[in-house]
Amino acid sequence: MNTDAFLDGNAAAGMLGELFAVEVTAAGAQCAHCGRVSVVAQARLYVDSPGVVGRCPSCEEVLFRMVRAPGRAWLDLRGVNYLEFALPEDG
Ligand SMILES: [Zn+2]
Repeated sequence: MNTDAFLDGNAAAGMLGELFAVEVTAAGAQCAHCGRVSVVAQARLYVDSPGVVGRCPSCEEVLFRMVRAPGRAWLDLRGVNYLEFALPEDG
């Protein structure tokens, strides 16, 4: 493998910091199951579990799961193909 062809994940810090500093509930999310793009805030949220589960408003499959514990959190986005963020034009 050519080790000159990639950087380590720290090189993504600026871009990831920009994305996760915005209001994520306003982002568009494409469901990995049915392909519908909906705003994260439109997800059906289930809170009667060890964490929080967000389900697609169209097909009801799991979009994301979140678990919070003292000093840490887990975010499982495997039900989302991508998130789309509206950003200022200067980026
Ligand atoms: Zn869906």
